[in-house]
Amino acid sequence: MPLAQTATSVPVTIDDAKCIADKGCTVCVDVCPLDVLRIKELADGTKTAYMKYDECWYCMPCEADCPTGAVTVTIPYLLK
Ligand code: SF4
Ligand code: SF4
Repeated sequence: MPLAQTATSVPVTIDDAKCIADKGCTVCVDVCPLDVLRIKELADGTKTAYMKYDECWYCMPCEADCPTGAVTVTIPYLLK
């Protein structure tokens, strides 16, 4: 049985299909107090936000302020 569980997942995920970073949006990157979100270019040349550093205060403005609802912050069970 594999021992690794969800080690490769990060708490903040971005729905590439909804993200409008391609149109110049950087809201989530700008509001994050820990500066852990970035914009990257995808293979097809469009852009999307992503979590570069796996640090998070679960303060939520990235999810709340995203104009398209592309950001999902998954709060660990123990912090709820
Ligand atoms: S929840 Fe807060 S710390 Fe975490 S990525 Fe969003 S803005 Fe940054
Ligand atoms: S705020 Fe939303 S639409 Fe804007 S870059 Fe971040 S994830 Fe993309």
